[in-house]
Amino acid sequence: MMLAAMAAGQTRQVIDAHAHVGMPGGKHDVAKSAALAIRVMDANGVSKTVDYSGSYGEALRDKIAYYNRQYSGRFVTCVNIPWERIDEPEFPKKAMAIVEQAYKDGARCVKVFKSLGLGARDSSGKLVRVDDHRADAVWSKAGELRMPVMIHTGDPAAFFRPPTPDNERYGELGVHPEWSFYGPQWPSREELLAQLLRVVANHPETDFLGLHFGNNPEDIRWVTRVMERFPNFWLDTGARVGEIGRYNPAELRAVFLRFQDRVLFGTDAAYEDDHLTLGVPEPRSKTIEESREFFRRHWEFFETDHRNIEHPSPIQGNWKVNAINLPPEVLRKLYAENARRLIPALR
Ligand SMILES: [Zn+2]
Repeated sequence: MMLAAMAAGQTRQVIDAHAHVGMPGGKHDVAKSAALAIRVMDANGVSKTVDYSGSYGEALRDKIAYYNRQYSGRFVTCVNIPWERIDEPEFPKKAMAIVEQAYKDGARCVKVFKSLGLGARDSSGKLVRVDDHRADAVWSKAGELRMPVMIHTGDPAAFFRPPTPDNERYGELGVHPEWSFYGPQWPSREELLAQLLRVVANHPETDFLGLHFGNNPEDIRWVTRVMERFPNFWLDTGARVGEIGRYNPAELRAVFLRFQDRVLFGTDAAYEDDHLTLGVPEPRSKTIEESREFFRRHWEFFETDHRNIEHPSPIQGNWKVNAINLPPEVLRKLYAENARRLIPALR
């Protein structure tokens, strides 16, 4: 199949701005996980990957040192914040010190998991809010150091609806019942997104990469309004081509053109020892061959005008998508240039 836009002798320069080399907490072997990442990157023309699973403190420092020794220039690493410690005395000061030390050790971004809002609890058992004022120090320090904050808030809208057979992501919720956030014990998705926007509004000096297409791929009008309102808000495509591919392709294409300087290509791939996950956790590891198909489907989506094609993560929904045929200069920004502007260390 011809991928027209990048043809004519142009090669894709690709940075994966959203991936996980192991999961934070030191459970996975850095050497094994990084070797797997490099195999997949090399098989698919990915020059650099942003690793969201840097952890913090010593684990982070050791990981970055390992990257520098073994794979110089291939990875940029984000620091993670231990929100479960938020009740400790002087948490803001400690969290700021974590970010500062991470920067000194070579981290160039802050990655915030959805556990902020949906997982981490304070000592009274209450979920820590995304806009908890004790986190403000992290956002300010990140801005001061020009470290973008890659933030995952909430989850797919379907995960907040009853996990019954008519739920369009029933298949995934069957494999991962813990992904369901349906019920009064959870904040609503709207509430979580409102908390996120308060943080973005209160910290104009800090760039926020709204993961998974702004954390609201189900509503591109919302995404458009937020992108208009906040010049410090960016988007990534990680694991959401299936979701956004359902729009009228002309409407979606217009969003990519309009905000062409603030959308980053990301896969949400996870490299855990020798287990490869492509967008969605599954019990069986994907193969290198499957990774080629996974990336090819992304290229087909962004670079052609094909209708009713497969999307990269079919378990996320049993439907076909419509490709958006972006022009070459927009593809260059999406695949690499925007990531380099957001994180100059990727140059
Ligand atoms: Zn991710």
